[in-house]
Amino acid sequence: MAIENKAPGKDVSDDDLREKFPLAAKKNSNHKSSFEVNGIEFGGEKIPIFAGPNMVESEELILKIAKFLKSQNIDFLRGGAFKPLTFPYRSAKYTETREDGLKWLKKAKEVTGINIITEIMHPSFLDQIDFVDIIQIGARNMQNYPFLQECARTGKPIMLKRHFGCSIRDLLGAAEYIMLEGNDKLILCERGVSAPHTHRSTSRFLLDLQAIPALQEITHLPIASDPSHACFWRPWVKALSNASIAVGADSLMLEVHPDPPNAAVDPLQAIDFAELSDIHKTLKGIAKVLGRKI
Ligand code: PEP
Ligand code: MN
Repeated sequence: MAIENKAPGKDVSDDDLREKFPLAAKKNSNHKSSFEVNGIEFGGEKIPIFAGPNMVESEELILKIAKFLKSQNIDFLRGGAFKPLTFPYRSAKYTETREDGLKWLKKAKEVTGINIITEIMHPSFLDQIDFVDIIQIGARNMQNYPFLQECARTGKPIMLKRHFGCSIRDLLGAAEYIMLEGNDKLILCERGVSAPHTHRSTSRFLLDLQAIPALQEITHLPIASDPSHACFWRPWVKALSNASIAVGADSLMLEVHPDPPNAAVDPLQAIDFAELSDIHKTLKGIAKVLGRKI
């Protein structure tokens, strides 16, 4: 069998750009798509921020956070009513709030006017999310193609997170499934990759900062960064947020909780309100130097 000139590999080839993901690929080096979600532009000068708890724990918590974010002019509340938890055993505190969580997010939107991004893990819930502004597809579902297609068909904007073991080529293949359904309101999110760690065992993933310009070289889609899930360690979130904006991220996701040590899920990675204000202020300065706006 002739091997020709093609070695199997993960690199993105010119053939891939033409044949595997023509919709996600840039048409020329200046091609960058932008779109608005409730008047907030993604892929333009502005860098929208998503902030909020890991899990939508209670109505009280979610309202408190939504009000704080509004007071800081942060555009989107994040939080999961459905959680892809690593282990199936769940204590009362750790249990997903599911339909209740969706109701509380809806209420937070009604009370404060904040925009909502939330993770959906199964198509059976897609008829309960009229109020949701962006559907988050989590890392673990990145290659669940029939699910990607069903989410795309809702016509809602989508944020697709890169699985921690997937290449840029895999991510763009998944993006193409969404775009082929006619949905091009798509944000891709870098959230850390699995790598052998030599620095600290609490650092669950390694934020692949390099993937941000690498993706922007190939795709016209806006690229977000999620330093919280990557590092899993609150003291590093500020440095990695700064770095994300510095390398050109088009959006940022931050996990925020009023009382991080008591967060129901991933208490090590959430920042508190004061830290969010501090980070937000610094990011505004970095964005300005780069000719962007937060
Ligand atoms: C999340 O954002 O809460 C989440 C579970 O992220 P990921 O899918 O990147 O692990
Ligand atoms: Mn999480």
